[in-house]
Amino acid sequence: MNISDYRRDFAEYSSTIELAHYQHRAGFERELHLESIYERYGDLFTRDAIDALQRAYDETPAHRETERMGLRLLCGAARIGYLEARARELTDEVARCHSSARVEWEGERIPVNSVPQIISNEPTASRRRELSARWVDAHNACNDLRAARFESFHESVGMLGFDSYRALFSDITGTDYERLADSANRFLERTEGAYTSALARVVERDLPGVSLDELQHADYFFFQRMTGLDSFFPAQDLMTTYAAALEGLGIRVEQQQNIHIDAEARPFKNPRAACFRINPPDDVRLLIAPVGGAYDYMVLFHEAGHAQHFGWSSRELCRQYPEFLHAPDTGTSEGYAFLLSHLFHDAGWVIEHRGGISTGQAREIVRSLALLTCGNIRRRCASLNYEIELHDHSQLRSEHLAATYSDAISQATRFRRSPALYLADVDDGFYSAAYLRAWAFEVTLREHLMTRYGRRWWASRKAGDELIDLWNTSSRYTVEELARLIGIGEISFDLLAESLIAAMKED
Ligand SMILES: [Zn+2]
Repeated sequence: MNISDYRRDFAEYSSTIELAHYQHRAGFERELHLESIYERYGDLFTRDAIDALQRAYDETPAHRETERMGLRLLCGAARIGYLEARARELTDEVARCHSSARVEWEGERIPVNSVPQIISNEPTASRRRELSARWVDAHNACNDLRAARFESFHESVGMLGFDSYRALFSDITGTDYERLADSANRFLERTEGAYTSALARVVERDLPGVSLDELQHADYFFFQRMTGLDSFFPAQDLMTTYAAALEGLGIRVEQQQNIHIDAEARPFKNPRAACFRINPPDDVRLLIAPVGGAYDYMVLFHEAGHAQHFGWSSRELCRQYPEFLHAPDTGTSEGYAFLLSHLFHDAGWVIEHRGGISTGQAREIVRSLALLTCGNIRRRCASLNYEIELHDHSQLRSEHLAATYSDAISQATRFRRSPALYLADVDDGFYSAAYLRAWAFEVTLREHLMTRYGRRWWASRKAGDELIDLWNTSSRYTVEELARLIGIGEISFDLLAESLIAAMKED
């Protein structure tokens, strides 16, 4: 096999897939059409290709570190591609089943994906719970297909010579998931008290008539909107706030021709912000449709973090090693995404960037948004524990698994989850673990920036220059390697817990 040709085709394939997703979410294409792409690039993910990549890796001497890391990632991507190719029909069936499901509500038949947004805007608890129950029921119908799809993955990993799905992803990301789950459990313990009391306050403020002990998933959708903060986050200020935030770091977003912002309204555009790496660093697209509110701001900043990471990736590195741009380990990019969205956890930043608010109001905003983040991290801690068990099971249609899922998420978040979501609410490839590592990295990186450039690091061009140097390396390094390279040692869940406890505290 000619590795340069493989890399060229892999880059082309990845760009084409990103473009198709962009066109679908931007509302240019009603349906997501990937079949012809999979067909055209099918050779990338065969057993032969995987074996050839593995051989090339084995034959590359240890001192050629970058080449070896690249081949490892390519091999990982090819293995994931192999699993996906074998499960493709099931994946399509799940998608068809899910998108054809409808929820009856007030004489209308609503597509299942549109329901969470309606629940999140429903102020009456009994109504959002009724709608949520119907939404959960709609998931049940596709669970056989979802189970079959995961079972297909489990069968495929055996064919690739791995003991388990977990062993494959451990190999790809270098993560010991059980050790990570230990850290996650410690995080759950440490933040339990602070999370619960902060949650009790916001429930009293934003969810009248609902008590802490009877919180449901339906209430979570509403809670997440943080309607009490709406007046501080109007839709029309979203993009100017983003531009000012980046300007503090010396980056002028209006001059970034390579990061194209798609803010146009289209009937079938998905309103959630998203970032697409079409052909970085030259073509990165940021899709937005501002609706306002704190959650909308944080999502945009998260996606913009991805966009800056891809947009500043070295052209030479991306050309030579496209696998560093389309790395199967997503932790690195998620870390940079959190760095920008967590600016909203810094009262000093909030005061400077959201005009006309008092110190007290800024603290209230920070407390609420740190609570949201803490709940999100706690949910992923619980997911990781559950996913380890799920992927060790051979028979996935299991009431025991469904109950384990429901107990774990409900306890961690204090919002009761239905067992029926135990297969729908799982991202492929232990994505929960990538998020957790990214959070622990981000807080460590933020500490480092603060130590070097002061509490107002986000107003320092030099901090911006250091970030640009990091973004330049794309996802060449894992978050653990980056932490060591920057000189901040190990990524730390203790620091993550401390930082959130401080941000959630009343003062
Ligand atoms: Zn992300």
